[in-house]
Amino acid sequence: MSYSKIMNTYQSTIKDTLKNRFLGYVKTWTTSDLEKADNGIMPSTQTQTEFAKKLAQELQDIGIKDVTVTKYSYVCARIPCSIGAETVPSVGFLAHMDTAMDVSGKNVKPNIVEKYQGQKITLKEGVVLDPKTDKYLAEATGETLITTDGTTLLGADDKAGIAEIITAVEFILKNKLPHGQIELLFSPDEETGHGMDKVPLDWIESKQCYTLDGGHIGELEVECFSAWKSDISFTGISIHTGSARPKLVNAVTMCSEFLNLLPKNEAPETTDGYQGFYAPLNVSGHIEEATCTVLLRDFTNTGIEEKKQTIDILARAIECKYKGSKVTVKHTQQYLNMKEELDKVPAVQEALTAATKAIGIQPTYLPIRGGTDGSRLTEMGIPTPNIFTGGHNYHSRQEWASLEQMCAASQIVVELVKIWSLAN
Ligand SMILES: [Zn+2]
Repeated sequence: MSYSKIMNTYQSTIKDTLKNRFLGYVKTWTTSDLEKADNGIMPSTQTQTEFAKKLAQELQDIGIKDVTVTKYSYVCARIPCSIGAETVPSVGFLAHMDTAMDVSGKNVKPNIVEKYQGQKITLKEGVVLDPKTDKYLAEATGETLITTDGTTLLGADDKAGIAEIITAVEFILKNKLPHGQIELLFSPDEETGHGMDKVPLDWIESKQCYTLDGGHIGELEVECFSAWKSDISFTGISIHTGSARPKLVNAVTMCSEFLNLLPKNEAPETTDGYQGFYAPLNVSGHIEEATCTVLLRDFTNTGIEEKKQTIDILARAIECKYKGSKVTVKHTQQYLNMKEELDKVPAVQEALTAATKAIGIQPTYLPIRGGTDGSRLTEMGIPTPNIFTGGHNYHSRQEWASLEQMCAASQIVVELVKIWSLAN
């Protein structure tokens, strides 16, 4: 079979399969646990292991022989190339199995709105989806929406991604379409920030991968923040407050003064787009010793370096102002903007642009104001841009997905496999 004949009908062919697959996944509870993950427990919840085993079985059922679940519950599946495609580069597709802790992901009862007419959607517990305040919802008129019942999140983040990938691969195999080696990786604990901690890097043979973990149709992501955090400790001099003059040096006062010096117009709540920020994350302390952590975010190396320097200068200023005090700063790198690495291998982004245009969608490249599993993987040497899934309002009771947008995301996976199959 060749791609040209059957791709026109791709979305109508797979629509029901994709919907049923997705509905099955979102009803499976896989909320991750930040505290456990921070303490090195991977996966952070047992439910993720159970879901991983289910997915592995499903992958075997659609005809994939090489499927494993690692001891940290990563699902790894490898599909050998079709005959004659031995020189085609291997491509990987990734999505994550867990859902965010912000809202319950247990007993998800998805609600389906066929042929949405642009009305307000009222769910349980006063949760409302309003096209007046949700421009993407307003644009989704005529589409099939999948929402929550108002009591939980939906989990389109990222079960839409998993469903789209598996449905695409099933289609390729069923129709015996020519393809290079395809690798699938479904990971635990993305929402805890630990999704790539135990990634079986040696297992991945692909030199390029794609995550399906984005949002609105057409939105693609090839750049993200570079992220550092600064831990600042203030040491004062403690003495009974009744006889303190002039010896007491108050670390709490120093810390609060330091935080007040941070630029207010460079905070998460006052920036967007390509602007970076300083985000005070936590404060603790007493008269003798106080500490705070500030997150530094910027899209450029120069921007990050300037922010680190600003922290150093402000810390020094406080130390000079309070005689006898000591202020120390420790900067730690968290993750890096993937753009620089992706720019070195333009074919990865070019294929993505071509795949998106091939299905009649204009790609919109957006900067991610955060990091992804893909940015971590890019840092580890495997360029991995991020693709939309058709899900919206992640981590909330207002989460919804458009089935038509999900079909489009799934088709992009098939198109990418096709484009790479021509790249030998
Ligand atoms: Zn996600």
